[in-house]
Amino acid sequence: RAKADGRGTWRFFEVEMDIRLQARRALELDLREALANGEFQLHYQPIYDFRAQRIGGFEALVRWIHPTRGLVPPGDFIAIAEEIGLIVPLGAWCLKTACRDAMRWPDGIKVAVNVSAVQFRDEIIVASVRDALADSHLPPKRLELEITESVLLKDNLATLATLHALRRVGVRIAMDDFGTGYSSLSYLRSFPFDKIKIDQSFVRDITPDADSGLIVRAVIGLGASLGMRTTGEGIETEIQFDRLAAEGCDEGQGYFIAKPGPAATVHETITRWSGARLTQSRAVA
Ligand code: C2E
Ligand code: MG
Ligand code: MG
Ligand code: MG
Repeated sequence: RAKADGRGTWRFFEVEMDIRLQARRALELDLREALANGEFQLHYQPIYDFRAQRIGGFEALVRWIHPTRGLVPPGDFIAIAEEIGLIVPLGAWCLKTACRDAMRWPDGIKVAVNVSAVQFRDEIIVASVRDALADSHLPPKRLELEITESVLLKDNLATLATLHALRRVGVRIAMDDFGTGYSSLSYLRSFPFDKIKIDQSFVRDITPDADSGLIVRAVIGLGASLGMRTTGEGIETEIQFDRLAAEGCDEGQGYFIAKPGPAATVHETITRWSGARLTQSRAVA
């Protein structure tokens, strides 16, 4: 009996694996066509500057609008795009589109673009960034690249050389999802990032309890000592927003400020969060 049960379970796994492989292969085939079919869009989420009390920039977040599945989130296709090599042309498209869109925003409003570790191979990223800036005429200082620790896990010396080459182009570089990977601290020592983005898992720890959010407080202090700006990610409550401001965090991002939206929503978001309106809406609350 035990044997029969065991075999039954195994067969069940085989079937499930097969279904998953087929689904993944179907998604992969569709993904190969998606760029040529114009199925990608960039949504923009505002980044609030606590000191200036206004929106300082927007993060570009890619969306795949599949003809039958509808909106596919990046978590479901970025890894596949990396495996099949699509991330290089897709990443170049994101950079180009984000820079062009940012040219239509008020002067000084920055745009942040996420960059995958695969784009860092062979310095491809440097050419993509130069092309996007040349094509759009966006001043380099208005473009920020967000990289995760996976970029730094590859080949340390080559990666550092690429980061320095990007710095010479004049763009800013942010460490994304800080605190979620390994050896974060040694990375901060080996490369002078312009900004540390504190992962939303730490911001979520901020509750009305005064003793909460101790890691956030520590990372803000770390950033201050290293001369790097800090951004709190995933702010969902007014308590988290107020606490980050009080702790001296430079910027905040999250659903409490605004969810990511299409390019057409950018101007309205800037207006809604401009000083006068902010005081007004928060006084009412
Ligand atoms: P990320 O760069 O850390 O982006 C922040 C993610 O958190 C976004 O998810 C955003 O929608 C979400 N988020 C923002 N505020 C809140 C909040 O208050 N609460 C919660 N629960 N979530 C919030 P999204 O758009 O699904 O993107 C997921 C990840 O996919 C990004 O994480 C980034 O690593 C990657 N990604 C997105 N666009 C691109 C791209 O163009 N290129 C590459 N290589 N990766 C991208
Ligand atoms: Mg990011
Ligand atoms: Mg992040
Ligand atoms: Mg993330």
